[in-house]
Amino acid sequence: MRIILLGPPGAGKGTQADMLSKKLFLPHISTGDMLRAVMGSGMELGQKAKAYMDKGQLVPDNIILDIIRDRIGRPDCREGYLLDGFPRTLPQAEALDAMLAANDNAIDVVLNIQVPLELLLERLTGRRGCLQCGTIYHQLYSPTKTEGLCDACGGSLYQRTDDCEASVQKRLEVYEVQTAPLIAYYEKRKTLQFINGNQPAHAVMLELGQVLGLDWEKD
Ligand code: ADP
Ligand code: ADP
Ligand code: ZN
Repeated sequence: MRIILLGPPGAGKGTQADMLSKKLFLPHISTGDMLRAVMGSGMELGQKAKAYMDKGQLVPDNIILDIIRDRIGRPDCREGYLLDGFPRTLPQAEALDAMLAANDNAIDVVLNIQVPLELLLERLTGRRGCLQCGTIYHQLYSPTKTEGLCDACGGSLYQRTDDCEASVQKRLEVYEVQTAPLIAYYEKRKTLQFINGNQPAHAVMLELGQVLGLDWEKD
């Protein structure tokens, strides 16, 4: 199954993709995580991407499309994948459709996670991530048992530099202008499902299960 998780920054795409990936045994492909990994590697591409990301702007489509083409062409993607944070512009969505069509494939479902915009600032400024295993936490909504340390692996928590208030405001504007039009794009293709993201993360996951026709209540 090929799934896209759509929604504004802070909607819970990464949180849900982590859970879905374990349940569906599909790779979780986050362009944001991939860009941050390249940044950490000291490669020139990373420096280029960082300049955009720090300002809260999108990285140019051609860079993102090169990364995605390479990633979804790998053997672990043969049975499908979860796309988180891609596509983010209409040209990216069109290029993805063309890439898939060339192999007689298509996206099966687009899950649009909806959260009122006024809640997103608090979600993003309170977000923390584990440096070691990537688990996502929130200072208020999903705190760790020991402050600053990951429950899963004991690694240290960090705050993304673009989760400061100024970058978040910019990213939300960018979302409205460049990414929100994808909702209409996928609605036309009848692959879009709306998910209420304004409920506890576990409840969001149950709703995703229902929409995908999977019964997770008993798990
Ligand atoms: P968020 O949690 O805000 O959804 P991501 O980790 O998905 O953040 O993305 C962080 C940043 O990485 C974005 O603000 C953007 O600069 C860049 N980025 C990630 N995915 C894309 C993409 N598909 N197209 C362009 N830029 C991207
Ligand atoms: P995205 O990938 O869409 O940017 P994340 O999954 O990283 O979003 O979530 C953003 C922040 O909100 C994180 O700190 C996460 O712990 C928290 N969060 C995710 N889902 C929920 C939820 N349903 N209720 C409250 N907080 C949530
Ligand atoms: Zn960890």
